[in-house]
Formats: sequence, structure tokens, C-alpha cells
Amino acid sequence: MQSRWRDADARKAIEVYGASGASESLALRVYTTQLLGRDPLLVLHGGGNTSLKTEMTDLLGESHAVLCVKGSGRDMATIDPAGLPAVKLEPLRKLRQREALSDEDMLRVQRAYLLDPTAPSPSVEMLLHAFVPHAFVDHTHANAVLGLIDQPSGEELAREVYGARLGFVPYRRPGFGLAKAAAEVFDADPSVEGLILDKHGIFTFGGSAREAYERMIEMVTLAEQRLQRGRKRIFASASLPSRVAEVAEVAPILRGACSLPDGAIEGAWRRLLLEFRTSDAILAFVNSRDVARIAGAGVTTPDHTIRTKGWPLIVPAPAAGKLADFKRDAGKAVQDFIAGYQAYFARNNARVGGGRIMLDCAPRVILVPGLGLIGLGRTKADARIAADIAESAVHTIADAEAIGEYRSIGEADMFDCEYWPPEQIKLARSTEPPLAGQVVAVTGAGGAIGAATARAFAAAGAEVALLDVDAGAAEAKARAIGTSALAVACDVTDAASVRAGFDKVVQTYGGVDIVVSNAGAAWQGRIGEVDEAVLRKSFELNFYGHQRVAQAAVRIMLAQGTGGCLLFNVSKQAVNPGPNFGPYGLPKAATLFLVRQYAVDYGADGIRANAVNADRIRSGLLTDDFIKARSQARGASEKDYMSGNLLQREVTAEDVAQAFLHQALELKTTGDVTTVDGGNIAAALR
Ligand SMILES: [Zn+2]
Repeated sequence: MQSRWRDADARKAIEVYGASGASESLALRVYTTQLLGRDPLLVLHGGGNTSLKTEMTDLLGESHAVLCVKGSGRDMATIDPAGLPAVKLEPLRKLRQREALSDEDMLRVQRAYLLDPTAPSPSVEMLLHAFVPHAFVDHTHANAVLGLIDQPSGEELAREVYGARLGFVPYRRPGFGLAKAAAEVFDADPSVEGLILDKHGIFTFGGSAREAYERMIEMVTLAEQRLQRGRKRIFASASLPSRVAEVAEVAPILRGACSLPDGAIEGAWRRLLLEFRTSDAILAFVNSRDVARIAGAGVTTPDHTIRTKGWPLIVPAPAAGKLADFKRDAGKAVQDFIAGYQAYFARNNARVGGGRIMLDCAPRVILVPGLGLIGLGRTKADARIAADIAESAVHTIADAEAIGEYRSIGEADMFDCEYWPPEQIKLARSTEPPLAGQVVAVTGAGGAIGAATARAFAAAGAEVALLDVDAGAAEAKARAIGTSALAVACDVTDAASVRAGFDKVVQTYGGVDIVVSNAGAAWQGRIGEVDEAVLRKSFELNFYGHQRVAQAAVRIMLAQGTGGCLLFNVSKQAVNPGPNFGPYGLPKAATLFLVRQYAVDYGADGIRANAVNADRIRSGLLTDDFIKARSQARGASEKDYMSGNLLQREVTAEDVAQAFLHQALELKTTGDVTTVDGGNIAAALR
């Protein structure tokens, strides 16, 4: 591992952060914190922290010795000076005299001595930073170090590699007890350049930002070099089916099996998003004969329990063409996992005297022999984090096994991290948006109504896939929503394109729960004279397009077995023909019937089918030119045409999006048509 320190970058940091009032040492503290945070071999998703001891003045102009320490939950890769809140150092040091500090008091301490009471809470590892004297302290959960110390002989290996340069602290849960234990190890030999925290990570110290950082790089490099020596062959492969099923077939089955009924509302499911990963290293791991032992041994560092739970779900290899068997076996594996998790909770909750709130029992990592691994989360971002951690663990465990035998902290220690009271408080306070965990696919999402609908569903907490025949338009609208939104090129008049589009949605999120079949276009012509080719073209898009999309969605929804929701943009033309608009209205009328047919045929599977009849929305379909033509056909001015309804209000794409959203949330409604047209008695349904 190479140092990424560059003098020019360091000077730049001093200049940039100095301009907003940061001292040179704080600016360099920020700079090397970013260097650590940007290397996933050192720091993953909040797993590390750094600090600086310096002087700062409060609002009274009085100077204090302070510890600037990484704020809890801050991302080291993008941290700025505000992400390292200053805490008065003396009271923290005095705390060392205490015998113990409860978790509740630890929470108070985190905020009690902040120089700025509006600053973020400092890291829970703050006291360890405070109890050693060095100006700069760096802490990571570097993979290579974990590969060395996550072993029964971790202490001997650490001594072999580091000698007396690093102190060795036996495992304790992060918090006051660990900080005290670490300080005692340090006091026993104050010449150490850092500390190894058994089964957890590494600290390095320095008089300057560069010294502490480059010590970290040096120590991790020594671990990397040791891991290259005396490696034995690992991970002999178990036997696999001759042909393994595709991810797009397997993911909905697993996603459905891991969805739990929402106890409060009939028909509601607590769903998760999936993130699939594969590589040669992952395959060697998941295909290994030893997978149950090595994956079941526990986490590589304790804070991973919050993201991945203590162990993954392992399912049988899915043989191609035998998905019914796989569905049965995977369902059983999930049920066993849940029962095991409940027993783990009950055992350990009793051990700590009760009172913990059980987290949801679904796995956060699934190992699929023959395919790879899957991270799960209530959002796509959380699923990615779980997958990142699981992928990283594959490498760490492989290294540990190659030079010895992988060993994690025990079950009780994992529980104490997973169910650490401050995490429980966060959980109790958190509220989720109404569509958390759900995947929505919107066709025609490059257009006005489709894009507004995708935005409305994303704002309600769903993950959204934007499908459009115009890939560029879908991409632009997806980017505007955020990094979790997916753009998919999809032509709904082409069965293969629909199939490929939905496969991509499934590969990305694991399945689909709500489909807004919105793609459409208008053709005009007097029905007695119109060319049959025009009518067929319109049917291809405005009827068969909806049918293809609905069919693709139903296939996935049935594999998941957790119901679903099909929503169709039908248009008021389906019930109220406009002059010379037959080529558009006729297939839309057939689509209105299609909605009802899906409601009838799939109600027993919990799949709802509803439609929105919208009218006169400015969009790619209803362009200014088109509005001109239609208003002339009706003998009205353009303005009167657009707000020519009972409420005399122009109806917008956002109004239509809200109607789709309501239909998605109405779990007891199917076969419904919602009219969004400002009021038009001639088009009213009866
Ligand atoms: Zn740590």
C-alpha cells in the first residue's frame, strides 16, 4: 500500500480550509482523513475515525485544549473541518478516573463538552482518542490488518509483524471500557506508534498529520506483506449444478422469500432492495465446501453487525430450469435463518437483562453458490453498503484462512454491537417514507407524466427505474432524481426489449413491486377513412405496449409472491371519444378493459390493477402544436381548451403523478379508474 500524501494537495487543503478559518493542523487533519476514507481497503462506510488535539477559542474568546474528532456517521472520504467537531479535552481526560460509564452516560458525554453545541455528535471512539497524548490519531478497520488478527493466533501474528511497535489490546466492545483498556496498554509502553485492537482494527499515532497517516500506511503494508507469505490453498469447491440459473430469475425469488408480511396492515409487505455482486474471489468463497463454516463464523470487525447482521443467509445453488425447487429450498432457508435469528435475539436479550427491541429478522447478505453474493437493505444505498461490506469480508476471510484460520468475535459480542443502546434509540426515532423498500418501474419516463410520476414515487421513498425508448431522456430524468434511480432503454412495442428492460430492473433492485405503464403516443384520423396501418401502429403502442409491460411485471411479481401493483395511463379517450381521435381512443379503450382483466385474473395473487384517466396534460404527446390542432378541432381557444373543464383549471403532469401514487398506496383498491381532468361530465364513468 502506497502513501497518497502529496505536498501540493496538502498545501491546497491548507489554502482551501484556511480560507474558512481552519488552522493549518486542522486542514491537514481533514486532508489525511480524506486520504484514509477514499481507500476502501482502509475504511468502509463509517468504519474508522481520526482526531486532532489542538487549541480553540469559545464564544467568550477563552482558549481551550480541544479534541477535534470525526463526527459520528460522517464519511471520511468527503469530510470537511465541520465534520470534526471540537470537544473540550480536559473533561474527557478526567473521565478516565471513572470505573465505568453507562451507555446512557456515554451519549451525554458525546454532547456535554462540545465547544459548539450545534456540532454533530463525535464518534463513540472519541474517548480512546482522548486518552492517548498524541496530537494526531488515526483509526481504521484495514482489511489486511483484520486478515492478520481475525484468527485464534491473532495476537502472536500481530507481535510477529509489529514487534513492540504496536500495543495489543484484547477485544472489547467499542466505548468507555475499550478506551480505558487501550489507554492502559499504551501506558505500559508509551513508545508504541499505535495499537492493534483485537478482532477490530488498528490505531496509529503521530506528531503530525503526515506521520500518523504514513504510519497507518506502513503498518497496513506490513500486514499485507505477511499475508502474502506461507499461504495455503483454500476454498475447495463444492459440487454445483451443471448450469446455474440467471440472476434475473433468482433475485425475485430471494427478494420475495426475504420479504416479511407487515403485521399492521393486511396486504402490506416489508420489502428489501438487493445489490448483486460477483467476481472470481466471491465465487471461490460462495462455492467453497467450507462456506457454512467461514461465513457463519461472524463479522470481520464489530460495527459491521449493524449493516450485515452477524452472519449471512446461505441458499442452495439455483439450477437452471429448476426454479420451483429453488423457490421451495430458498424459502425454507430463509425461514430457518429467521428462526435462528429470533433464537439468537432471545438468548442474548435475556443475557443482557431484556429490554432490547428486535430488529427485522430478514438477512442482510445472501450467499448464492454458483452466482455470487447479494446485499440487502431498506434502500438501494443500504443494500450497496451491505454488499460492499460482504465483498470486503470475502477478501479478509480468504486472507485469514490462507495463513491460518478465520476467527471472529463471539455471538455475545456481536449482539452487544448490533443491539448497542444508542443504535436502538436511533431506530426507535426513525420513521420511514410510505414506499420504503419498494421498486417502481415507470415506462415513458422520459416524458412529462412519466418523469413527474418517477419523481413522486422517489419522493415517497421508492426506488425508481425510468424506462423510455429515448435512452438519453430516461438518463437525464434519472440523474435529476439521484444516484439510486435507474435509466433503462426500453421500447414497449418490442417484446425482447421489454424483457431485457425488466431483467435490468431486476438485476439492479432484485425485483419490482409497482409498474406505471405510461408510455404512449397519439395518432389522429377520421375513423371511416384512416389508414389501417395507423390504427395498427397505435394499437401496437397504446394497447400491446401495456400488455407486454404488464405481462413482464406479473411474471416477476408472481416469482416474488408478495403481490404488486399495475398502474396504467389510460386517458379519458377510453370513455369519451374526441373527434378524429379514434386511432388513439380505440386502443386506450381496450387498455381500460385490460386493467379490469388484470384485476380479475390476479386479484387472488395480491396484484392490483388500476388506471388513471387523465386529460389535456402538456407533454411530449400534447405539444403546443398538438394543442393548437385539438383546440381547433373542438372550436375553442388554446387557453380555454387547456382549462376547459368544470374547475377551469389546467391539469398538470404532477397532478397525474399524485393520482398514481394514491393508487399505489390504496392496498384495498383494484380495478379502479381515477379521473384527473379537472372535471368533464361527458367523460365521467358510470
Ligand atoms: Zn473502530
